[in-house]
Amino acid sequence: MGDIVHCHCQTCRKAHAAAFSSVAAVNDTDFRLLGSEWLKYYQSSPGKRRYFCTNCGSQIYAKRDNTAHIILRLGCLNDTAATHELKHIWVSQKAGWYSINNNLPEYARFD
Ligand SMILES: [Zn+2]
Repeated sequence: MGDIVHCHCQTCRKAHAAAFSSVAAVNDTDFRLLGSEWLKYYQSSPGKRRYFCTNCGSQIYAKRDNTAHIILRLGCLNDTAATHELKHIWVSQKAGWYSINNNLPEYARFD
């Protein structure tokens, strides 16, 4: 699993009903989906599908076309991932009521 990225884009904020979404990339070869009958997706932007649980509504992961990894939504995990926080992205779209209170690098867009 890759490093933790906190995404503040408007789409993530609204999809998760939260200030931001904490995510990590997982190679397709390292990801095995069990219980896929519970998942549906919507395409939030061209070529990007966001998968969510049809039972509880939780976002589980996202997948972009032509990539070799998924974007795992870390808030859905039962256990804490053994990785570390790397950065904040899409800070240009950050919720005005939220203040970032750590020393991680901040990027206006996806960097
Ligand atoms: Zn985002």
